[in-house]
Amino acid sequence: MIYFDNAATTKVRPEVIESMLPVLSEEYGNPSSLYAMGRSAHSLIEKARKQVASAIGAKLPREIFFTSCGTESDNWAITGAMALAKGKHMITSMVEHHAVLTTCERLEEQGFSVSYVKPDKTGRITAEAVAKEIREDTALISIMYANNEVGTVNEIAAIGKLAREHGILFHTDAVQAAGHLPIDVEAENIDLLSISAHKFHAPKGVGALYIRDGVNIAKLMRGGAQERNQRPGTENTASITAMGTALSLAVSEMQEETARIGAMREHLEKRIFAEIPDVYLNGNREHRLPGTLNLRFPGAGSDAVLLSLDMEGLAASGGSACSAGAAEASHVLLAMGLSESEAKHSIRLSLGHMNTMEEVDQAVEILKRVVLRIRSISPVY
Ligand code: PLP
Repeated sequence: MIYFDNAATTKVRPEVIESMLPVLSEEYGNPSSLYAMGRSAHSLIEKARKQVASAIGAKLPREIFFTSCGTESDNWAITGAMALAKGKHMITSMVEHHAVLTTCERLEEQGFSVSYVKPDKTGRITAEAVAKEIREDTALISIMYANNEVGTVNEIAAIGKLAREHGILFHTDAVQAAGHLPIDVEAENIDLLSISAHKFHAPKGVGALYIRDGVNIAKLMRGGAQERNQRPGTENTASITAMGTALSLAVSEMQEETARIGAMREHLEKRIFAEIPDVYLNGNREHRLPGTLNLRFPGAGSDAVLLSLDMEGLAASGGSACSAGAAEASHVLLAMGLSESEAKHSIRLSLGHMNTMEEVDQAVEILKRVVLRIRSISPVY
């Protein structure tokens, strides 16, 4: 099977499995306890905290709080920031992940006011578009670093600067960017940043929230005093260790992997455009994640294409992973100006660390066969 769905989730790297196995079998003590096994579990967590902090340019390891996933980090950042804010208004975008969008909808139900910035045609959110929504009572800007469906990278440094100039907190959902793009929370004026381990070859079910030192947000959950009394629950030492290992590996290999994965995606894109007629790119040609490619094939509905690709051994995806199987058109593609029908004729191919150029060439052959076959039997094409 050729796995081109790395934006949805990734395979855990062998080195990462190796780092977590002894934690499960030997260092299983409660990190909050005083005996030796607890203390060594505690030191593993602190090591991972340093690794994550250094991967995103955080000044201090204590600015990193471990969570259960990217969704929790997004929920915590946004509800926690707004709960303590003086202003009742926040700004986000129409292309955010549902973890952000549904959190914002909940805030609206509670009486907060939310502005949803529309992206440009490539899915990009610019600082200029965000600036237009700033009000006297704006307390938070939450704009994703890079989009999970089309791979477009937003104007993060400029949005951070804008937020800082206005004294507004800036949260970014960096779930797609962490481990894939260089992130610098200091240079980019980011106050809150969400990450998720399963997007960079660590296990699912563990994430982190960066909270800039001095920024206060309310807790999401009540319970024990773990994570400096900010995030309760016995720490998932094995997965936290895995996340630290995977993120430092990703950062140390980023330059060469960005070039290698970018070259594979480039080759994939070039061959598809040369060999399959009538195909369109959904996304930005310049500001993009190295491995993500979202394409529209008129006359070939995405459900039919994805099922046929699966039968031929190629795993790809339609809208975001969370809405796979749901019949709705992607909210991201609609916000970019595609019609419902155009959105339903689009697929995402996302390459990652485990992929090879041979797989890219095989995938082109499969995709060509599948799209041409579906078009040949489509009554309207
Ligand atoms: N934000 C973005 C941009 C994502 O792509 C995802 C995962 O698909 C999430 C948030 C949610 O992360 P998790 O699956 O760890 O809850």
